[in-house]
Order: sequence, then C-alpha cells, then structure tokens
Amino acid sequence: MGTDHRAVWVIAEQINCHLQSVSLQLIGQARKLADQLGTLVEAILLGDKIEQPARQLIAAGADRVYLGNAPELEVYQPELYTQIAVNLASEQQPEIILIGSTDMGRELAPLVAAHLKTGLTAHCIDFVLDKELILEQRIPAYGGLLSIVCPEKRPQMATAAKGVFATPEPDDSRTGEIVLIDIPTDLPGRVKTLEIIREEPQGVPLETASTIVAGGAGAGDIDGWKDICELAAVLNAALGSTRPAVDEGWAELETMIGQSGKMVSPEVYIGVGLSGEQQHMVGIVGARVMVAINNDDKSPIFEQVDYGIVDDCRKFLPALIEQIKQYEEKKNTCE
Ligand SMILES: Cc1cc2nc3c(=O)[nH]c(=O)nc-3n(C[C@H](O)[C@H](O)[C@H](O)COP(=O)(O)OP(=O)(O)OC[C@H]3O[C@@H](n4cnc5c(N)ncnc54)[C@H](O)[C@@H]3O)c2cc1C
Repeated sequence: MGTDHRAVWVIAEQINCHLQSVSLQLIGQARKLADQLGTLVEAILLGDKIEQPARQLIAAGADRVYLGNAPELEVYQPELYTQIAVNLASEQQPEIILIGSTDMGRELAPLVAAHLKTGLTAHCIDFVLDKELILEQRIPAYGGLLSIVCPEKRPQMATAAKGVFATPEPDDSRTGEIVLIDIPTDLPGRVKTLEIIREEPQGVPLETASTIVAGGAGAGDIDGWKDICELAAVLNAALGSTRPAVDEGWAELETMIGQSGKMVSPEVYIGVGLSGEQQHMVGIVGARVMVAINNDDKSPIFEQVDYGIVDDCRKFLPALIEQIKQYEEKKNTCE
C-alpha cells in the first residue's frame, strides 16, 4: 500500500456499546477514498468495553482502530473526547477526517477542527476526490450540489448524516489492527457529562414510517401546526418538519427532515405548507409517492411531487381530517 497520502479517518461513535450506523456508513466512504488515495482507513472509537464495536469497524472496512477503552470515556465527554482526537490527529496527521452529524458529531467536529486550525464542511451528501486528489465535500445548495474543498489545511474535515450513505456489508474475515490509546491524565475538566438520558421518541418514528406528514412555515402559527399534527395522527403517520417549523418552536428538532435533519424513505410523503427547498427535499429522495398541499400554485414544491393540492392548509386540513375520520368510522362500523 502506498504511503503518499496519510490515512482517511472516521471518528466513530458508540452509545451503550452500540456502534452508530452512520459510523459504519462513513467507514464505507473512507474505504472508497482511501483506496483511491492508496492509503489506510483508520477509526477512533472511544467508550468503555467497546472491543466488539471496534471489530465491527474492521469488518466494515477499517484497517486500524485507535481504541480508547476506559470507564471515564463511557459517555461522550466533550473536552476529553476533543483532546484525545486532537492529540492523536496532531501525532498521526490524517489526510481526511469524517464524522457523523449526530448530537455528538455536531459538537465534536467543530471543536476538533478549531483545535487543528483546519476547515470543516457540515452535512455533506457526497464525497469525491478531484484530479489533484483533494476532497470535494458536496452539499446541496443553489438548486444543485456545491463542492467545498480545503486545499491548504490538513486534515480535510467533513460531517455527514445517518442514512446518506449505504452501510457496507460486514466482512468478518477482514483483519485489522486495534491500537489502544493512552487516556490523558491531565484532563480538561470544565464540563463533565454524568449521564445521558435519552427521551423516548413520541409517535411513529420518522426513520421507519411508511407515511410521513411534514409541515413547514406555511402552517402560520401553532394552531396551524396543530392541524398538521392531527393529520399525521389520523393517518397514523410520522410527523416531520422543515427548519422554520423547528425555529418557530412548533416542532422538535428530532422531526426535522433534510440536509441537517433526518433522511427518510416512506411509501407516502405529504408536505404541507412547505416550499420544496433543496435542503429539505434531499432528506426525502427515498420517498415513493409524494403529495404537496400549498396555497401558491407557483411554489417549486409542485415540480417535485406526484400529486399537488393548491389550497390554504388552514382551511383544507380541518376538512380533510374530518373526511378521514368519517371514513375511518364508516370502515369500523362495516367491519
Ligand atoms: C446549510 C443549511 C442546511 C439546512 N438544512 C435544512 C434541513 O435539514 N431541513 C429543512 O427543512 N431546511 C433546512 N434548511 C433551510 C432551507 O433552506 C429552507 O429555508 C427551509 O426548508 C424552508 O422551509 P419551508 O418550506 O417550511 O418554508 P418556506 O420556504 O418559507 O415555504 C413556506 C411555504 O408555505 C406556503 N404557504 C404559506 N402559507 C400557506 C398556507 N396558508 N397554506 C398552504 N401553504 C402555505 C408558501 O407558499 C411556501 O411555499 C437549511 C438551510 C441551510 C442554509
């Protein structure tokens, strides 16, 4: 294997000893890039009792895993994780570092990039090498894909969301090296995570839903938003949102679909009061049938969906919900 280029890294993530799927998906991307560069795929994995997830990274395509295995690393510690990653990256000088856009990754990636005095591109949806073998970090923008490069600084750093890339098939016969790393004793100590309590998601989970009702700024206010929630409830659908609905405080961040939200692939997607901006639509490329309800017949959403309804959602939704309820009632009395 050539050594012209330094390794392609993935900062992997585990929660309760379970590897996050985005880490495996990024190993797949790292493998592709490393093969073109003629270099190694290396991962950092921090946690406690995590030998098994380290082996999973190797089966997915990593050549080497730097393993920080210690009780104080069991849950994500922002300062400690940053220091470990920065120390190791300063020593090993990777060419590229990829990180999942998870709660951890969104915080850790900019911290590491700032310490290493390099750039960072968030929420990429494609990675390719240009003819100079510089990483094109592609994000949706201006109605197409924008390639961002970091020609001078190293490492080149980027994040990507879960579900953007395919998960590589595990090959348990692959071999790789697991290198135990020293945990610094002079720990930075301003912030210590004691415990992470995860809220149980409410309703139908977006990731596995066969029907999704997603609402946007066109809901107008919290009462308009409640109609969108009710439509999702009567259809037994998962609730999705656009960024403005989250910014307005109507919807939880976990419901946001798109470049910086979730990637979904329902059978049916119904978008209400949203304009079809690319940063949202990139999250639903896997949807089979798409429907839009929008009061502006010139809205770009109508060019992207299979069925369009031009109406004010404040008037249309209550009527539609009533019809669905009546239909369900009739169906139940006939059964
Ligand atoms: C780096 C970056 C990342 C981003 N990531 C995401 C992301 O992950 N997800 C995301 O969603 N956005 C994301 N955005 C924001 C994105 O660019 C758009 O601003 C956003 O998706 C627009 O949301 P919207 O369609 O709800 O609002 P708008 O674009 O304001 O559209 C509102 C629509 O509602 C319609 N409308 C108004 N009133 C009514 C009514 N009474 N009845 C029916 N229709 C009505 C209007 O005609 C309009 O089409 C990102 C932006 C950036 C820069």
